[in-house]
Amino acid sequence: MAGKFDLIVIGGGAAGIVSAVMAGGLHLRVLMIEKDRIGGECLYTGCVPSKALLHAAHFAHKMRVADQIGLQAHNISREDAAGVMRWVKESIRGVAEANETEAMLRNYHVEIRRGDVHFIDPHTVILNGEKLTADHFVLATGSHPAVPAIPGLENIPYLLNTSIFDLQEIPESMLIVGGGPIGVEMAQAFARLGSRITIVQRKSRIVPREDAETALALQHMLEDEGIEILCNSEIAELKTTSTGIIAEVNIGIGTRIVEAAHILCAVGRRPNVSGLALENAGVHISHRGIPVDGRLRSSCKHIYVCGDLLGDWQYSHMAEYEAKLAVRNILFPGASIAKFGVVPRVLFTDPELASVGLTEEEATVFKKPYKVYVKPFSQDDRAITDHDARGWVKVLAHPQTGRIWGVHILGPRAGELIMEWVLAMEKRHSITTIADLIHPYPTLTMASQRAAQKWYEEFAGNTLISGILDLYVQRIRPYNRAVALSALAAGASVAALKMMRRR
Ligand SMILES: Cc1cc2nc3c(=O)[nH]c(=O)nc-3n(C[C@H](O)[C@H](O)[C@H](O)COP(=O)(O)OP(=O)(O)OC[C@H]3O[C@@H](n4cnc5c(N)ncnc54)[C@H](O)[C@@H]3O)c2cc1C
Repeated sequence: MAGKFDLIVIGGGAAGIVSAVMAGGLHLRVLMIEKDRIGGECLYTGCVPSKALLHAAHFAHKMRVADQIGLQAHNISREDAAGVMRWVKESIRGVAEANETEAMLRNYHVEIRRGDVHFIDPHTVILNGEKLTADHFVLATGSHPAVPAIPGLENIPYLLNTSIFDLQEIPESMLIVGGGPIGVEMAQAFARLGSRITIVQRKSRIVPREDAETALALQHMLEDEGIEILCNSEIAELKTTSTGIIAEVNIGIGTRIVEAAHILCAVGRRPNVSGLALENAGVHISHRGIPVDGRLRSSCKHIYVCGDLLGDWQYSHMAEYEAKLAVRNILFPGASIAKFGVVPRVLFTDPELASVGLTEEEATVFKKPYKVYVKPFSQDDRAITDHDARGWVKVLAHPQTGRIWGVHILGPRAGELIMEWVLAMEKRHSITTIADLIHPYPTLTMASQRAAQKWYEEFAGNTLISGILDLYVQRIRPYNRAVALSALAAGASVAALKMMRRR
């Protein structure tokens, strides 16, 4: 039957692509419905353009400070950076071409259709007037940027992540509403490319989900680069001017007036559910996303949800993880339960901030017995030779068992460095695994090893343990050696006697 499928995947972003490919690869008859472009947020308006922009910005920064390592510095102005927005588009094209997603989907026998789709009952959707049914559905329609309720915003052509990468030039100045990951990454990127940046953040610091000490250290680094960060602040009113916008910002102790050429809103995400008529399928929705059980099933048990639409852990790698889990649950007996305890997250600023597990604040709230083991990059040989020695590896671990609760790396290539910790935590290894592992010198990974070795140092410094060590080193070990030497001498005499008798 033409309109009958094993699985209909709605949405062709990271979550939709992975679930469709996996299900197609496992011989299910799969239809993917996408209303716009296959590739989703990550490719066109998220991860890829933002990382391309940040890369160009890091380059500009390195050129500006090149004299610090004996090279001719070049002060990149925003006019010099005029071609960067073209590079951003080129990188999107490059990634799209490299992935060849549509061809790959077809290789896995996934049928692709485009258009607006809505449910009429739990097993049936209408697409462009055609009735299509399936035994299972994966909802992967993602999220869109929330628009804050700021008086005056409705009269202003504000930017969102969906439009900022279409700018033709680097703006002279930008007011960024929101100090979360998107706001902070964009702030550093545009600041380094020559824009004057102000962030207005409602909370007391940037990236509030991250470890407080680590997030604050990054905040100070960004401020040192000239980014103005107004915390505990809200915009009271916005107006247009001949050159852009003017904002009255309530900063708690008074009011600040900020003028800028553009305003970017980066204040969170809302689920893409409108038009799907999910009520006809009995799927419940919350304002954050679609609630699911551990198997990622919505309130309608054959309709699964993954990716940003879940409303939490809005990362591409999580979309991929959830998509695989949903398909496993659709196809195989038993329940694969989603685990969100060991989720790596990376903020792609310079230096990067990468984390996994609990923050110090969370470890305290959850009453985990922990100590902090830190290795600053200023004491790491490679970071020094790379002239990139800001930040640290900070590990929270159980002082006796060495169980790792959380790791927060602020430093060069932190996103890469976090992975050995992710593996250790996932496999329930103690911190000593990282301390004992051979790390190649001089790589940045040695900072991780050295942070882990601090656990041994602290452990050996414990009064009881150091007492036992003393006892062993001073008394037992010399005694053992004496016994061993006498045994050796006795053994040698016996052997000599035997040889003499043989003769
Ligand atoms: C600026 C920015 C930077 C980011 N950087 C990173 C990063 O560095 N690393 C990282 O891991 N994550 C990053 N993210 C997050 C990442 O982009 C998302 O977590 C990821 O794209 C979620 O994938 P998804 O498949 O759930 O949704 P999406 O990628 O949004 O895909 C959803 C798809 O569904 C389609 N759709 C929507 N409604 C319908 C409908 N009614 N019918 C049919 N199709 C529909 C959409 O057109 C879209 O193609 C970033 C996000 C932003 C905004």
